[in-house]
Amino acid sequence: MKDSRGLSNPKVHTIRDGVYAITGLYHVSGGMGTNAGIISSPEAIAFIDSGMTIASAQFIWNVAQSKIGGDRPLYLILTHHHSDHVFGMRVMKEQGSKVIAHSATCKFLENDNGKYKQFIRNLMNWSSEEADRILGDVWLSVPDLLIDVDTTLHIGTEIQLLVTPGHVPSSISVYHPSSRTLFAGDTVYEGLPLTTRFGGPEEWQVWISQLERLKNLDIELICPGHGNLCRKKELDRNIEFLADLMVKMEQG
Ligand SMILES: [Zn+2]
Repeated sequence: MKDSRGLSNPKVHTIRDGVYAITGLYHVSGGMGTNAGIISSPEAIAFIDSGMTIASAQFIWNVAQSKIGGDRPLYLILTHHHSDHVFGMRVMKEQGSKVIAHSATCKFLENDNGKYKQFIRNLMNWSSEEADRILGDVWLSVPDLLIDVDTTLHIGTEIQLLVTPGHVPSSISVYHPSSRTLFAGDTVYEGLPLTTRFGGPEEWQVWISQLERLKNLDIELICPGHGNLCRKKELDRNIEFLADLMVKMEQG
């Protein structure tokens, strides 16, 4: 699928007043969209991921403006360092958001100078004009606040940042207890094969243990990194996917 606007057909889901999930944002794969989230309180707005394109991030920003509005402190939580979650970050950053991520994102985001965009351009075999038209003027930077362990944010509502490595070492999942929502990033996929190529059996075992940990949370709804909004039982499908993969590896 070619989308020269870099937006695709995102859907906005109201989880409850002030808490939104956005699914089906542009992804280079065509078939699989990218998701993002917004958690707000009267005191602040936190964005969860920024999409793969500047157009995606602007869409997310406009959702917040139209549904929440107001002038309050802004945060952007990056669930990990991959292009489909961070390429829109300049939009939130230019609006004054403080960016929060795992410290393992740093080496991928610092001194980027367009290198990651160039990498995607090469991967997709795009001309420089196509890359500009689809991805937009991507500008990556080191997050303002780095975490290494589970961290709770109090921004008028409690947000738990849970360090959940497996997909990549920089993976975090964002849990909002008062709406019982988990914004899982690529720790959870809905209805799709998991992207496991960034690790091997050792990392997949860690991933399973993190999914087991997430099962202990009181969850009503999961916004995965990719796929539709889902229920807690999707955690079991993800665990089974990884366990099956490990068995297949052992059998060679
Ligand atoms: Zn992703």
